Amino acid sequence: MSHFSEIPAMEAQVLTVLGSTGSIGQSTLDVVARHPDHFTVFALTANSSVDKLFEQCQQCQPRYAVVGNADAAAQLHKLLSTVSCQTEVLYGLESLQEVASHQQVDTVMAAIVGAAGLLPTMAAVSAGKKVLLANKESLVMAGQLFMDAVSSSGAQLLPIDSEHNAIFQCLPHHQGRTSASTIDGVRKILLTCSGGPFRQWKNDDIRAATPDQACRHPNWSMGRKISVDSASLMNKGLEFIEAKWLFDVSPQTIEVVIHPQSIIHSMVEYTDGSVLAQLGNPDMRTPIAYGLAYPNRIESGVSSLDIVAAAPLDFESPDYARFPALKLAIDAAAAGIGAATALNAVNEVAVSAFLDGWISFGKMIDTLDAVMNTANWSVPFDIESVIALDSEMRRIAAQAVEAVC
Ligand code: NAD
Ligand code: MG
Repeated sequence: MSHFSEIPAMEAQVLTVLGSTGSIGQSTLDVVARHPDHFTVFALTANSSVDKLFEQCQQCQPRYAVVGNADAAAQLHKLLSTVSCQTEVLYGLESLQEVASHQQVDTVMAAIVGAAGLLPTMAAVSAGKKVLLANKESLVMAGQLFMDAVSSSGAQLLPIDSEHNAIFQCLPHHQGRTSASTIDGVRKILLTCSGGPFRQWKNDDIRAATPDQACRHPNWSMGRKISVDSASLMNKGLEFIEAKWLFDVSPQTIEVVIHPQSIIHSMVEYTDGSVLAQLGNPDMRTPIAYGLAYPNRIESGVSSLDIVAAAPLDFESPDYARFPALKLAIDAAAAGIGAATALNAVNEVAVSAFLDGWISFGKMIDTLDAVMNTANWSVPFDIESVIALDSEMRRIAAQAVEAVC
């Protein structure tokens, strides 16, 4: 019997897509629409993008649509009443948690951006769902507590971040678990990074960059928060912390490598000298399709990789002097869970102040650096204390932003 014939045929899945109107949410629905026999959409959620969610409800006919507040719910309800769509409209955090953990749901795509995704993602994890994790911030914030909840509930956690999805694909699969530390012979995880839009910029120019320049990523089309994180390389820092928890490895095992073409999505080196890589066009539908179909493979709509046209593939080391946010995150990974929770909170406040035009890109980095080097934080011991620390750090970060405005 061949190895491939041992993989069971893909079963039909009932899906909740948290953050369906975002970049990852839309790519997820694009893949889902290619396989109507395999996926049924149970719930879609958005914060305030009512028009987009209305469009998605008409396409997917979910049982529930969840929005951020009562006003948005009333708007969506009014729109839906004009068409033949039976979707029930809900709003607020409790509703997000309900649609993430509902007994009829098999699979949850966690694609809300930022700390707002923590509790809905944890609800899916605690209910033992197959969880497709795009919302890296939830794992960065909750770290060991998140992974403990995965173990105790029996949830299946599949990484959607392209790098972590690549690493997962390069590890031998032990019943879909992600732990690399229990796999003999893993020497190193090589986390690739495009270098972002400012890879070749001088420090002064980076510090003066506008939000539009920061959001103009050379290879990937993404939401604005992750685009700014990609410009500062904080995204790679958050991914460093994400990799530590997902694959249960020490920070010393992870090496960041700049690879401007984003064709290799990450690599795993083994003790015999073998280095396994996962390659493909930079399109999030590949990791999304992999997560949806795992352990099968399905059509994603991504075009074939033209490896000759993609050449040459370049690699360089990160420059921490121009991109100090990456170093701050690597230090936080070594310092432990409180530092990572704090870093994530301060970063979210500083990025939103930058995107809203309150502070420059340079001041955004200065704020991060100042708060991370002066503030004290406790070690959270449960999800409530993670949320309390997140709020406290947001308060301190907001004061620091005000001080430099
Ligand atoms: P996005 O900004 O395009 O979309 C975010 C989604 O979350 C939207 O549906 C929005 O309505 C919803 N949302 C925002 N705030 C909310 C709140 N307070 N409560 C409830 N819902 C809220 O973001 P994105 O680029 O799709 O990224 C989503 C997540 O996936 C992020 O954590 C990001 O780091 C991760 N990710 C994204 C990419 C990418 O290519 N876009 C790649 C890897 C990982
Ligand atoms: Mg990534």
